Amino acid sequence: MTHQPISARLGFMASEPKNLQQAINYFSDPDNCLNYLIARRWKDGVVCPICGSREVSFVPSRRVWQCKTRHPKCQFSVKVGTIFEDSPIGLDKWLTAMWMMANCKNGVSSWEIHRSLGVTQKSEWFMLQRIRYALQGKNSGKLGGPGSEIEVDETFIGGKARNMHRSKRARVITGTGGKDKAVVMGMMERGGNVRAFVVDDRRKAGLQRQVREHVEAGAAIYSDELKSYDGLNVDYDHAVINHAVEYVNGKVHTNGMENFWSLLKRSLHGTYVSVEPFHLFRYIDEQAFRYNNRKDMNDADRFSLAVSQIIGKRLTYAEVTGKVGETAF
Ligand SMILES: [Zn+2]
Repeated sequence: MTHQPISARLGFMASEPKNLQQAINYFSDPDNCLNYLIARRWKDGVVCPICGSREVSFVPSRRVWQCKTRHPKCQFSVKVGTIFEDSPIGLDKWLTAMWMMANCKNGVSSWEIHRSLGVTQKSEWFMLQRIRYALQGKNSGKLGGPGSEIEVDETFIGGKARNMHRSKRARVITGTGGKDKAVVMGMMERGGNVRAFVVDDRRKAGLQRQVREHVEAGAAIYSDELKSYDGLNVDYDHAVINHAVEYVNGKVHTNGMENFWSLLKRSLHGTYVSVEPFHLFRYIDEQAFRYNNRKDMNDADRFSLAVSQIIGKRLTYAEVTGKVGETAF
């Protein structure tokens, strides 16, 4: 059975939101939330997420569907099988939080959303981690191709030096700056996408393995003078910018990556007060989502894309925190 838009029985469909203010209004109506999600998840009609049957009927009073096949959980809501599953938090709050995260250049903190949506800060933190999971890109295929230029760079993130006792700070922070910090590696195709992730260290074997995994052989690669990149010229057209001397030499620079790092660090230091290394990759994924979808897209498009990525993703509180048996709600 194909699904009729919920509002069809009211004789109209509200038009989809274009900005945050409209989104807040639009998603305050549960029928709009449902219509918006159905249009993206079940374009060809509602399908039971458990058994795949199309023989389902809508129960308007509870906004759930009843699968005609007999099996456990034969009643399901639109949340089942998405990052929203098992969450008692309303779709109005979920979708508004998601709009903000998909579109605010510097990210949004759980405190900000806590204040604007009125859910507890702990719940909100967990919501945002789930949304970050939805924003995670697939990184399928390789960057590069004929004539492409890839910037490769790494940076250090974290280090709680500011909160550390001075004697300990002296011990931990060495001249090379690293040790207590996470190393994040990034690769950016000029005019295209960035990929960034936490790596164990800056040693040659690991960094070069990542480059080979993510970049087509034959591409032009620009990096700084880090010795770990020596030898990439076997498979790539590798050029090095020596930052001790200059930052740009014609096409040879890593300014695109530097720009990405500064956006990431601004959101980490400004918006997110403290991020444990364990969670860092989710913040990187979030920043990469906004960066990779910044061009030729408006806020509504970016949000729609984010929503299309919520399906088939679950993330339990125990998985996010390592605290088994505790819940966020
Ligand atoms: Zn079913």
